[in-house]
Amino acid sequence: MRSEELFKEAKNYLPGGVDSPVRAFKPYPFFALKGDGPRLFDVDGNSYLDYCLAYGPLVLGHAHPQVTAAVQKQLLKGSAYGVPTEAEIELAKEVVKRIPCAEMVRFVNSGTEATMSAIRLARAVTGKKKIVKFEGAYHGAHDYVLVKSGSGAAGLPDSPGVPEETTKNTVLVPFNNEESITSLIEHEGENLAAIILEPIMGNVGCIPPKKGFLEFLRGITLENNIILIFDEVITGFRIAEGGAQEYFGVTPDLVTMGKILGGGFPMGAFAGKKEFMGRIAPAGDVYQAGTFNGNPISITAGLETLKHLDNKFYQDLEIKGLKIRRGIEDILEDASLEYQVAGLASMFQLYFTNEPVWDYAQAKTSDTDKFTQYFKTLLDNEVFIAPSQFECCFISQAHSPEDIQATLEAIENGIKTTENK
Ligand SMILES: *Cc1c(COP(=O)(O)O)cnc(C)c1O
Repeated sequence: MRSEELFKEAKNYLPGGVDSPVRAFKPYPFFALKGDGPRLFDVDGNSYLDYCLAYGPLVLGHAHPQVTAAVQKQLLKGSAYGVPTEAEIELAKEVVKRIPCAEMVRFVNSGTEATMSAIRLARAVTGKKKIVKFEGAYHGAHDYVLVKSGSGAAGLPDSPGVPEETTKNTVLVPFNNEESITSLIEHEGENLAAIILEPIMGNVGCIPPKKGFLEFLRGITLENNIILIFDEVITGFRIAEGGAQEYFGVTPDLVTMGKILGGGFPMGAFAGKKEFMGRIAPAGDVYQAGTFNGNPISITAGLETLKHLDNKFYQDLEIKGLKIRRGIEDILEDASLEYQVAGLASMFQLYFTNEPVWDYAQAKTSDTDKFTQYFKTLLDNEVFIAPSQFECCFISQAHSPEDIQATLEAIENGIKTTENK
């Protein structure tokens, strides 16, 4: 197997053989040759219906012809300028038009940079230090948010190299739990600069907010001078034109974006009211900068991608999502299994647990050995999903009804094999 050989070689030069940890699944990851529409092809001659989609960005599928053509055209004109371009205004206008809380935008290079900068801004605006994040939520790989540990407690670092001095300012609470927020704010609301959350948790599988939870957070943050940050790096441009804030009708103070926004190229952004964004340098005093910020290739790909993302597009994706989730539910019912089918719009995941999943602790009750078996059987059946129970599966426009049907057959096979082991 060429992939096996390459992985062996890669491990000599790249830590763990990969450039981001989740990619190193066992016994070895397949190495990509190319992507085309809903399919990913590997160096061993296999192809897979892809529901990982580079962990979310490829909402139009791989190598969309119009995105590719737009990027090719831009490439001939250069790939970075160090001065502004008109296209940045165009994309900012698109973001402002679609995303309810966005009046001004700063383009950065990744979701990680977006959340780091939005948190800095929230601290500057409120003059307070501590931030609240939800257990199991992922907001990128920087120090402020690499925190796990017990509920309500000041967080301990999740990685060596992250100073406790940093993470003691990050407070953890369970998702979908109003009492823990209320009691936290009672005790130290005067120290809390921001609550940051994924409105739909997409990094512990897929956990939607309980009815009323986002409204509750909006109300209590407004009352207590706490900035509400929606991390929409996944949900932005995936579940509705205006992201989760449109979908659920709750408008935060700041939003972070990434993944889909770059049309398959590296990009992130944060946005919010002018009153806050006006504090960002050089308009204001809160420092943020980047050599590749607003990169013309990423901006071009993002602009071309957004052209395709209208209401009808989201309705079509929603139908595909429903079809997959209902299909999995039927398979489980036929097999008399009571696992949890999670997700909404074009996001889905199957949790190997009989417990309903509303937070991190409940997600952790899943049988990850079963998930691994399921993942492997799907691969054998030419379906690639993220190799972890705690990631989410995504559907693209390029997945046809026939692809969805074939996928459900693979999933049925996957579940049967898993149960017979
Ligand atoms: C992927 C992700 C990030 C980090 O984005 P990168 O571009 O990988 O740095 C932040 N927040 C959420 C919710 C994400 O899913």
